[in-house]
Amino acid sequence: MKQFKTPDLPYKYNALEPYIDETTMQIHHDKHHVTYTTNFNNALESQPDLFNKSAEEILADINQVNEAIRIAVKNHGGGHVHHALFWEIMRPGKKNNKPSGELLEAIKQTFKTWESFQKDFAQIAMTVFGSGWAWLSLVDGKLIIEKTANQDSPYSLGHTPLMGIDVWEHAYYLKYQNRRAEFIENFWPVINWDKVSERFNKFKY
Ligand code: MN
Repeated sequence: MKQFKTPDLPYKYNALEPYIDETTMQIHHDKHHVTYTTNFNNALESQPDLFNKSAEEILADINQVNEAIRIAVKNHGGGHVHHALFWEIMRPGKKNNKPSGELLEAIKQTFKTWESFQKDFAQIAMTVFGSGWAWLSLVDGKLIIEKTANQDSPYSLGHTPLMGIDVWEHAYYLKYQNRRAEFIENFWPVINWDKVSERFNKFKY
């Protein structure tokens, strides 16, 4: 039976320094993500036909998951999928990091300017109460900024997340303590806009 695996980071643990520190990356990937994946696999054992689907498909069709394991699948399946995406949409940081081409045009069209997009996204990320995520997602080909609590997934709403920021305290507390705004500010340089653009082009229709 195919089990879900925690993907390796596509870079070294220290690759996102100084924006995201090595220890946080190590614990976040090796402990938090691995635990989500393990618990996701364990939950699916009682409904093994789900192993034939992708994790995103399972989340998108969460009502097909037996009620006895639905919450576990939502939490741990969500954790598995969201972290896999999070690692993928980051890369070593650079200043003045922003998208180009069609994605930048779509962002400007939707959110007026690049700066107002950044402001709106940061605002949504700041106002996640407790644990959760802020996302740039596609809904029917349109860009939106949204937030979800805990590991609730945009996929379960029929949305496709293009990129997102984890604002659970485990994502930033070691380096930034309670300063979430500073963590969000330091997320911009490490976004892999090539990867986000690739997702935009793949999912825009
Ligand atoms: Mn996390």
